[in-house]
Amino acid sequence: MGRVYNFSAGPAVLPECVLKEAADEMLNYKGTGMSVMEMSHRSKAYDEIIKTAEADLRELMNIPDNYKVLFLQGGASQQFAMIPMNLMKNKVADFIVTGQWAKKAYQEAQKYGKANKIATSEDKTFSYIPDCSDLPISDDADYVYICENNTIYGTKFKELPNTKGKVLVSDVSSCFLSEPVDVTKYGIIYGGVQKNIGPAGVVIVIIREDLITEDVLPGTPTMLTYKTHADANSLYNTPPAYGIYICGKVFKWLKEMGGLSTIKEYNEKKAKILYDFLDESKLFKGTVEKKDRSLMNVPFVTGDAELDAKFVKEAKEAGLENLKGHRSVGGMRASIYNAMPIEGVKALVAFMKKFEEENL
Ligand SMILES: *Cc1c(COP(=O)(O)O)cnc(C)c1O
Repeated sequence: MGRVYNFSAGPAVLPECVLKEAADEMLNYKGTGMSVMEMSHRSKAYDEIIKTAEADLRELMNIPDNYKVLFLQGGASQQFAMIPMNLMKNKVADFIVTGQWAKKAYQEAQKYGKANKIATSEDKTFSYIPDCSDLPISDDADYVYICENNTIYGTKFKELPNTKGKVLVSDVSSCFLSEPVDVTKYGIIYGGVQKNIGPAGVVIVIIREDLITEDVLPGTPTMLTYKTHADANSLYNTPPAYGIYICGKVFKWLKEMGGLSTIKEYNEKKAKILYDFLDESKLFKGTVEKKDRSLMNVPFVTGDAELDAKFVKEAKEAGLENLKGHRSVGGMRASIYNAMPIEGVKALVAFMKKFEEENL
């Protein structure tokens, strides 16, 4: 069997050309006589890999000079603790809880200070983004926290919340590099790369320099202090070296594609094919409020759990993999990240049409 269309939410599809290039360089990276996996992170060859990766990311996202880019480990989940440890000077933070990941971050922050849930969409199974234009932001909040694209529920903030001057911290794991962003609107943008950029094991943190201080909560480990990694340009200890190398290749690929504006157009085109079909289908329906629909994660249901299971099974047999929805929503979810080709989305919709005819 050849390669399938992989709709996994993460780890997820990577550009085939990136995988091929990595395969070509596997045994002997650019005449060094060794694989990037075998290389010292202090070597000249690796120094160039990590510096080029950072420079390309800065160019893609137009990251201003007063922001640091950190390549860290521990998954996005480790940031749920690292953020409060480093930012909670007043021991207060406000959370907009729009899904499981935001909820986990909110719960973890409670270990370190007062975490306030200032808005939530839990009343309707996180199927929408609440109005965030005039929320009760705490006067002494150290930051306001959001999960910008909700991987499980398929919602996305189309507009950033009004933080009333407070620092905005955003988990962009599942929408990283899917469209242009104005970095200056954030204090921290971070995400695990295994959704939309690279292999699991790397977390990218883009952090405004004034938020990087020695004044962290007592007991914060050296490894969980942003300053440690910022001062050492992400080489304080051995970084997830091979993962960063693959991320670098994906940045190059995105640049060749034309950058984030072009990618956004492509993502909109792909998502439209699927959403248009869901809107006219008599069998399938989307689970999210239209105005809040994600371009990356598209949950849908038939309304019949048995039929959902049949769909997932038959789709797999047709080379359309990992379409089972998250257990908290049920049904299906198609993750259509940057690296999912439009042919994959078309194949999915064609299969859904056929399934609908056979099962309605
Ligand atoms: C997957 C995901 C996480 C958790 O990522 P880990 O790297 O597994 O810790 C957090 N936030 C969002 C939005 C995610 O999609």
